Amino acid sequence: MDGSSIIFPETEENHALVENVHPGGWLNPEPAHCYNLVVIGAGTAGLVCAAGAASLGAKVALIESHLLGGDCLNYGCVPSKGIIRSSRAIYEARHGDDFGLTGGDGIGIDFAAAMARMRRIRAGLSRHDSARRFRDELGVDVFFGSGSFTGVETIGVEGKTLRFKRAVICTGARAAPPPFPGFAEAGYLTNETVFSLTELPRSLAVIGSGPIGCELAQTFARLGSRVTILERGSHILPREDRDAADIVKNAFIRDGVQLALDTKTISASRKGDKKVIIAEHGGKVIEIAVDEILVGVGRAPNMEGLGLEAAGIAYDPQQGVKVDELLRTSNPRVFAAGDICFPYKFTHTADALARIVIANALFMGRQKSSALVVPWCTYTDPEVAHVGMYEQEAIDRGIPVVTLTVPLADVDRAVLDGESEGFARVHLNKGSDRILGATIVARHAGEMISEVTLAMSSGLGLSAIGRTIHPYPTQAEAIKKLADAYNRTRLTPFVQKILAVWLKWRNG
Ligand SMILES: Cc1cc2nc3c(=O)[nH]c(=O)nc-3n(C[C@H](O)[C@H](O)[C@H](O)COP(=O)(O)OP(=O)(O)OC[C@H]3O[C@@H](n4cnc5c(N)ncnc54)[C@H](O)[C@@H]3O)c2cc1C
Repeated sequence: MDGSSIIFPETEENHALVENVHPGGWLNPEPAHCYNLVVIGAGTAGLVCAAGAASLGAKVALIESHLLGGDCLNYGCVPSKGIIRSSRAIYEARHGDDFGLTGGDGIGIDFAAAMARMRRIRAGLSRHDSARRFRDELGVDVFFGSGSFTGVETIGVEGKTLRFKRAVICTGARAAPPPFPGFAEAGYLTNETVFSLTELPRSLAVIGSGPIGCELAQTFARLGSRVTILERGSHILPREDRDAADIVKNAFIRDGVQLALDTKTISASRKGDKKVIIAEHGGKVIEIAVDEILVGVGRAPNMEGLGLEAAGIAYDPQQGVKVDELLRTSNPRVFAAGDICFPYKFTHTADALARIVIANALFMGRQKSSALVVPWCTYTDPEVAHVGMYEQEAIDRGIPVVTLTVPLADVDRAVLDGESEGFARVHLNKGSDRILGATIVARHAGEMISEVTLAMSSGLGLSAIGRTIHPYPTQAEAIKKLADAYNRTRLTPFVQKILAVWLKWRNG
C-alpha cells in the first residue's frame, strides 16, 4: 500500500511526511535466516522496541502496514498539539487587553494556515521515525505490509516468512466505529480524518468529553467553529478529579463551547447539507444540526488479520492482546507493548513498555509493567495532569488518605501570568508523606506533574519536594507549597507547645 493515498490533503508537507514514513517504491528486504526480534506495528511502542533492540546489537525486523510513527505522529499527539498551539495563540491575541494588547476583537483566523503549520511541523518531526533512518542508521529490516503470525515462531508479510526467537505485537488501537445508527451514512470525522480538514467546519458536534473530545472541542471553538459537546454523563472529563473537570468546564463556557451533558446520542442522519444528531436529554428527544461530527469516544485494538490463533496468543476482543505483568503473551516467545495490551493508552506508556519488552524478551529481565508510575495530561487550557490514585480510589482500596490542595491563586507566578485558575492537589497516605497520587490543573500542568512522578517512582515523600529549592517565581512552587502545607499538618498543638518551651528555655 502506498501511504500517499491516505494522508490528505496532497501537499508538499504531506509528501515529505510520507517519504519518511511510507516511502514510495520501498522494496522489502530479503528476510534474515532468523531474527532476535520481529516487531509488528511501528507506532511508538514498535519504533522504541526496534530502535532499542537494534542499538544493543539484535537482528531486528520491523513490520508496518500503514505509516511509521503510528497514531502519535500521524493522527494523534503531534497534529493535535500542533493545532492546540495555534488555537492558544489566537486566544491570547484575542484576550490580550489585560496585558496591554489592543485590537484583539479584530484579529482574523486563517484555519488553512494553522493546519499547514501543523503539517509542516509533523513532516519535520517524521524524520526521526523515517524508514530510511531505521534501515540505514539502525540496521533494522523494515517491511511494509500487514504482519500475520503463521505459526508459533513465524510471521508472514507480503509473501515472505520471518522466523523469530522473540516477537512483539505493537499494533495499537484505532477509533472504533460509533455504535449509533446513521453515523456511517451521515458521515463523521475521527482522529484519522480530522487533521486532514482544509476548511473550518462552521459548526461541529463532538461526541464524548474524554481527553480527545475535550482537547479538540476547545481547539476548534478557539479556531472559530460553533462547537457542541455531547456527553452522556453529567461531567466532562468523567475520569478526572471533579474539581479539575469543573475548572475546564468553566473555561469551555468562556470559549463558547456548548455543553450538552446528560445527553445520550441515539442516531444521526443527513438533512440537506447538515448532519443531524438525534439525542435524548431529560427524557426528551432533541436534534442538533451541524456541519461536521467528530467522534471522540471508543478505541478498538488492532488485531484483525494478525493470526493470533496460529501462534497460540490469547486475546480479548475489547481489551486486546492479553499479557502478564512481564508483558509476555500466552506464547512464551511473543510479547506485546502499547495500546494493543495496556489500559493506559499514551505515547509515554508505549515507550516505557517497549523498554520493558527489550529487557525481558532479549536479556531475561524480570521488569514489571505493574511497577510503572504512569502520569498523564489532557492538553486543554488549562491542562489537567494526573499521576497515581484519585482520592476515591484510595478510599475504595481501604487506604487512609489525606488530601492537600494549593490554589494557583496562592502562587505568585500564576497570578503574574494571569493563569491563576487551577490548583495542585496531592493525596497522601495518612500519617506519612507518602504520595498516593496528585492532580494539577494549570496552563502547563503536563510539565509540572513530572516532579511528583519522580518523587513517587523514586520512593521519595512529599517532604523531599519541600526540601528542594524551587526558583521564584515559578508555577512549580505550587508543588513545594503542598509540601509546606504537609509540614504545617505536622505542627500539632502538642508539637507547638514543645517548641515554645524549647525556645523560651533557649532565650534564657
Ligand atoms: C487525537 C489523539 C491525541 C493523542 N494525544 C496524546 C498525547 O498528547 N499524549 C500521549 O501520551 N498520547 C496521546 N494519544 C495516544 C497515543 O497516540 C497512543 O497511545 C500511542 O500512539 C500508542 O502507540 P502504539 O505504538 O501502541 O500504537 P499506534 O501508534 O497505534 O501504532 C500501531 C501501529 O501498528 C500498525 N499495525 C496495525 N496492525 C498491523 C499489522 N497487522 N501489521 C503491521 N502493522 C500493523 C498501525 O498501522 C500503526 O502504525 C493520542 C491519541 C489520539 C487519537
